[in-house]
Amino acid sequence: MAERNEKMLCELMKLPGNSVCADCGSRNPEYASYNIGIFICARCSGVHRQMGVHISKVKHLKLDRWEDSQVERMREVGNVRAKMKFEERVPPCYRIPKEDDPQVLVEQWIRAKYQRGEFCYPERQLYVSGDFSGFLMKRGKEDSRFRSRKFVLSESDDTLKYYIVENREPKAVLRVSELNVIFAPQKMSLYPNSLQISYLKDGTTRHIYVYHSEGEVITNWYMAIRCAKLHRLQVAYPSASESELVQFLTEDFAKEGWLWKTGPKVSDGFKKRWFALDNRKLMYHDEPMDANPKGEIFIGHMADGYCMNMGVSTGVRDQGFSFKLTTPDRIYNLSAQSEIDRDHWIEVLERVIERPLTAQDIAVSARLVRKRTNTNSISIFSPR
Ligand SMILES: [Zn+2]
Repeated sequence: MAERNEKMLCELMKLPGNSVCADCGSRNPEYASYNIGIFICARCSGVHRQMGVHISKVKHLKLDRWEDSQVERMREVGNVRAKMKFEERVPPCYRIPKEDDPQVLVEQWIRAKYQRGEFCYPERQLYVSGDFSGFLMKRGKEDSRFRSRKFVLSESDDTLKYYIVENREPKAVLRVSELNVIFAPQKMSLYPNSLQISYLKDGTTRHIYVYHSEGEVITNWYMAIRCAKLHRLQVAYPSASESELVQFLTEDFAKEGWLWKTGPKVSDGFKKRWFALDNRKLMYHDEPMDANPKGEIFIGHMADGYCMNMGVSTGVRDQGFSFKLTTPDRIYNLSAQSEIDRDHWIEVLERVIERPLTAQDIAVSARLVRKRTNTNSISIFSPR
């Protein structure tokens, strides 16, 4: 009997949709929620267990004993049918997680689907109106301490403001259409529900770091910002399709990490800097959570003289895993911590250099240009 059920589950797994996790899309799921009727991966099964058996009942596909009725339920539902029901009304601004995405995003996606029923009852989507407000813990620029700050998002004003004292002047006004927001659980390891918001202020980038004790709140903020951005893009580009515009809402940093970098002179020694590649902006900082980069390099297109090479310029001492970034203004001699890391940096930067500039890229480079002393090209500004 047990053997027959195991065989049947194996057969069911071959059906369309069942060979990947119903929640994150990772391959070869090893678990199932047998009351919901879906095949899921080990990571997602953990979230299902946390929600409690009144919502989801989890079993291992091979190591647990299956009853006939449970296998029957898996046959009745399956991943495709469950998706039609639980993801019926996912708003276009919503970022559906993939397998490597931060835990908070995966967890809240699963809870939104099965616990809160957000995609069956759209009125439960608190982040789609374009306005959003509440308190977040924000890291101080000077002393690194986190303090509670009121944040207010307004789609009609295109602003995200935060206040030190409520009802007074805001401490900062960020333009929603120009900011980027990413989940930052690795950088802010004590705070899994955290975001890094980056925006342009006076021609340079400013980062702010926030967290909330509730994963649902931080995810709602993330989706609310995406939603406000999407609505504004829809007004600005009425002929563009929604799926096209959704690509421009938020973008995870393509890569972050320590590199060694020389100064502009050949005699300058290598200094350790925290690099982050945000779309076409390569920023370097003293520390990973600095409020401002020490410098930023706009990465243009190969046709404009940008390229990547192994090794260093003549006269510069090779650090072992060195490579250089050539821009029209300057050659940056850099060095990674390992061969794999160096090759990965070269690969991600080459990908950017090969990509044609979009209208948004040109707008960003124009904003950065203001601080530039050199007049003819879009490369460095404010190197400190
Ligand atoms: Zn999964």
